[in-house]
Amino acid sequence: MDEAYASYNKRELGFRDYFQAHYELEDEPIIHPETDTPGGGEQVVLDKGLYRCRYCGSKKSDGVGFKKAHVIPEHMGNKLIVSHAECTPCNETFSVYEAHLGQLIGPLKTLLGVKGKSKGGRRIPKFKDFKFDTAITRSDTGVLWEIDPQQTTVRLDSPRDISIGVRHIPYVPLSAWKGLARSSVHLLDLE
Ligand SMILES: [Zn+2]
Repeated sequence: MDEAYASYNKRELGFRDYFQAHYELEDEPIIHPETDTPGGGEQVVLDKGLYRCRYCGSKKSDGVGFKKAHVIPEHMGNKLIVSHAECTPCNETFSVYEAHLGQLIGPLKTLLGVKGKSKGGRRIPKFKDFKFDTAITRSDTGVLWEIDPQQTTVRLDSPRDISIGVRHIPYVPLSAWKGLARSSVHLLDLE
């Protein structure tokens, strides 16, 4: 572990300790009866009728627009959990961060079979890296993982395990983190 990473890690652990000392974690799952209805089903609206933005404090009564905002990005498979507590200008800002988050986890979404926004949430998106060295397709019958062997790191870890490197679509880590933080703020107790 290099020195920069070690000091970064130490600082992160400090943040974790601070968080745990000041916040109480609640274990209240959002229960939804129709989790297996991609592209359909009834939405659960958090902060229903609030129309006050959790991020900037704007209110609908002041003339600021509100749409139903997806609490966890739609591209991460959330179709049905939405909220009335994010104004349209904040929603537009966050959509940029969410795109970076999507690029960070891109190959994982395909491998885990997360259905995104396309085809009404019925299709698992194909992953292609930006240099077209890797393409991952997931279907009902399995995963097809196409690589350019000249450009891809393939490592035999044990007689049973193999690791295959995937090149990310470029993203800004801080922006991806902001996308994740945005969802976290949306799930905090309002008070
Ligand atoms: Zn706002």
